[in-house]
Amino acid sequence: MNFKLRLGRVTWPARTGIILGILAPVGMLITTGVMLLDLRRDAWDKAEQTSRNLLQVIERDIARNFEIIDLSIQGAVDGLNAKGIRDVSPDLRQLILFDRAAGARDMGVMLVLDENGDTVIDAASVTPRKLNNSDRDYFKAHKARADLGLSISPPVVSRLLGKPVLVLSRRINKPDGSFGGIVLGSLSLSYFHGLFARIGLGRHGAINLYRTDGMRIVRHPYLESDIGSSIAGTPTFERFRREGRGSFVGTSPRDGSERHFAFARIGDFPFILNVTLSAHEIEAEWRWKAFVISLIVVLLCGLTIGLSLLFWRELQRRSAIQAELERLSLTDVLTGLPNRRAFEEMLARFWTSARRQGTPLSLLVVDADHFKRYNDRHGHAVGDRVLQGIGGRLSASLHRPGDVVCRVGGEEFVLLLPHADGAAALGVAERVHAHMATLSVPTAGIEAGAITVSVGVASAVPEAGGSMNPPDMNPPDMNPSDMDPFDLYRRADAALYEAKAAGRNRTCCAAPEVAPHRRAAPHGVEG
Ligand code: GH3
Ligand code: MG
Ligand code: MG
Repeated sequence: MNFKLRLGRVTWPARTGIILGILAPVGMLITTGVMLLDLRRDAWDKAEQTSRNLLQVIERDIARNFEIIDLSIQGAVDGLNAKGIRDVSPDLRQLILFDRAAGARDMGVMLVLDENGDTVIDAASVTPRKLNNSDRDYFKAHKARADLGLSISPPVVSRLLGKPVLVLSRRINKPDGSFGGIVLGSLSLSYFHGLFARIGLGRHGAINLYRTDGMRIVRHPYLESDIGSSIAGTPTFERFRREGRGSFVGTSPRDGSERHFAFARIGDFPFILNVTLSAHEIEAEWRWKAFVISLIVVLLCGLTIGLSLLFWRELQRRSAIQAELERLSLTDVLTGLPNRRAFEEMLARFWTSARRQGTPLSLLVVDADHFKRYNDRHGHAVGDRVLQGIGGRLSASLHRPGDVVCRVGGEEFVLLLPHADGAAALGVAERVHAHMATLSVPTAGIEAGAITVSVGVASAVPEAGGSMNPPDMNPPDMNPSDMDPFDLYRRADAALYEAKAAGRNRTCCAAPEVAPHRRAAPHGVEG
């Protein structure tokens, strides 16, 4: 039996309760799913916001430092062009040319080189430290081009400091416009490390500073092999360069993992800064929360569904018991036939349906003749077996599917024959007597033909205003429309009484006009 059919046996409110008990958890699961997706989006929004804020702070700091160094360089270039500057004493000149920014913590060196690349003025020392940088690319570039403006070199190891620096430089023009050397200021890479190290980005987060040509200037966490390497041409970097500022989720060219990239240009300088966060770490907190919430919700849902199913099973069990009790309450225990209560229900139902359809309904009351004697002679147990035999023979006498046999009293049975008129009912009564003549209980010495029954027959077409069947079977004072189904039974019972009175083992019809149907040769032998 499938679920739907089983559920059909359960009452409507209980069924609604069970369905809700299953649907509510489903709703709860959907709501939780939506909520968890929302929380996940929040985690990503938070990461996005954090990246943007970090990017902004770092970008401003770096841009400011570049600007300060460049302003110092420009100040020195302008100062060198001022009249008489070359005539003042070296210590005064140093004071005039270099402002205090030249002494800032991460500022490497600040030098003026002549057209041959030799140091002529040193911000850190009145007597310039000896150095020739004519071989440096930035020096050569300025020498070759007057319009280069500010040049920022790739990381180089400072000859004076012995550590990696970025060199910012501008050209000095002689009064005739020819190359007169350069002013340079360097920024130690330790500045970037110090700046980035203060920022927590998780174990797999990273900050990169690239030149716009793809060269990596610095990376945090620091890896020496990363410095100076180029990622030009990778889809990620091309997107940085193309869009200038923004963020996206993509695959890391480094390890193929999913990452959130936020990137921005450093002011007008040819650098791109990028903050990378690991998708795994962005979702880590959310994942843990999602796991706990899901576990609790799934457990609760499971519990609710489990309890609903238990409730449903219990209702099933009860309704099965109830159905069985109902069946038993309508069944005669000895013969297994419908009992008197079932008979009354069926009679009312058949009557209503016959009246609706305008069809006849016949009823046979069958009573065992001198049954008391079997009990007295052979005992109650044999009497019971005879009753079972009579029930069997009566069932065998019925041929149409709608016909029913009921045991309505001790040794009294009723045959209900829908759609059967009086003639058909008499035909069934004939078969009853014929079948009864074959009933025997050999173990008790009761032979075939010893058991007989008397039968009372009544028929009617129970239509309002309709006629009895046959029409002249109506008692003279009875209007058919006044009849109820139990009148039919009472009339058959009266006919039975007549059959008894007339000598038993025979059938009588319930109509004064129709003579009792006397059988040519009565069946059985009266005890
Ligand atoms: P009649 O021909 O006039 O119907 O006589 P009868 O003996 O059949 O009728 P009566 O009403 O005098 O007796 C019916 C008997 O049926 C009485 C009772 O002991 C017996 N009886 C009723 N129910 C049962 C039952 O369930 N089992 C057995 N063994 N006997 C029953
Ligand atoms: Mg009897
Ligand atoms: Mg009786």
